[in-house]
Amino acid sequence: LNIQHLATTNKEEEFENKLRPISFADFQGQPRIVENLQVFVAAAIQRGDALDHVLLHGPPGLGKTTLSNIIANELGVGIKVTSGPVLDKPGDLAGLLTNLEPNDVLFIDEIHRLSPIVEEYLYSAMEDYKIDIMIDKGPAARSIQIELNPFTLIGATTRSGLLTSPLRARFGINSHMEYYDAQTIKSIIERSANILQVPIDEKASWEIASRSRGTPRIANALLRRVRDFAQVKGTGTIEIEITKYGLEALDIDKHGLDIMDNKILTVIIDKFKGGPVGISTIATAVGEDAGTIEEVYEPFLIKEGFIKRTPRGREVTDRAYNHLGKSNPNAMNP
Ligand code: ATP
Repeated sequence: LNIQHLATTNKEEEFENKLRPISFADFQGQPRIVENLQVFVAAAIQRGDALDHVLLHGPPGLGKTTLSNIIANELGVGIKVTSGPVLDKPGDLAGLLTNLEPNDVLFIDEIHRLSPIVEEYLYSAMEDYKIDIMIDKGPAARSIQIELNPFTLIGATTRSGLLTSPLRARFGINSHMEYYDAQTIKSIIERSANILQVPIDEKASWEIASRSRGTPRIANALLRRVRDFAQVKGTGTIEIEITKYGLEALDIDKHGLDIMDNKILTVIIDKFKGGPVGISTIATAVGEDAGTIEEVYEPFLIKEGFIKRTPRGREVTDRAYNHLGKSNPNAMNP
């Protein structure tokens, strides 16, 4: 079971929306980002200006969409939502931009996947709130300039490394979201359980938190699954025994590692004697793109102490050998 992909159905989306915090006060974790944003939002409101453009980057499921909605809410403005791959023609972008009210937010998810032409159009929109569009074809073709209302672009990306530098340079606020610590995930789970009106005990929320890969989306998805087990096979209360039973039944790794995480560790151990090995070699061996490994998988594996970075490449740690039940041939005598 790939826990990164647990939350993909419509029902799951509905559930996510219900649990989505709507103000800075509800949003837990990421304290540095939130504190800064609170200042920038308050200042923009005082001046009556649009907030500077914001780039949010970090692994999936950490709350980029949530935070963008909160920003719009706190600014008291509307938000229009789209994504890089959807905006494939400049006309689509122009349509969105010309429909924004003053100081509205335009949220573009997966902004690293914008087509180069659309991206080009975005530059002048971001910089001077103007766009040039071509009308007519052939000899009559000419470009006209359209003035836009001031707006805030919020771009979200899991792959900041793929952003072009001219685009990156146009964001005044640039925030990197980190995996959450287990304590914060635990209180997110408790908040969600409260909203769902399902009783949960301390040990159970801790157990779910420790298997959630530092990711609120995964925490909420696991909570939902465990709630089902508690309802059907338990007492209705989410307590530790039923939680362990449910997580076991779902095949959730006890550290929250997913299939790709485990594949990366296994490959480094089995094919490269535990490393050091370069990221592109690992990428080829597991069949995933090197940038995705570097930006999505590796940070978690490093944070949890399964991999370390050395000048000669990535090395697995003893913790990785233990986790996979393999013995470390390079270990000092036990
Ligand atoms: P992606 O990049 O894949 O779109 P994302 O980073 O935008 O993911 P969201 O969809 O915003 O992630 O968040 C996933 C779920 O996690 C939401 O349903 C939200 O309820 C919950 N969530 C995210 N961050 C927090 C938080 N700080 N506190 C409480 N719940 C959160």
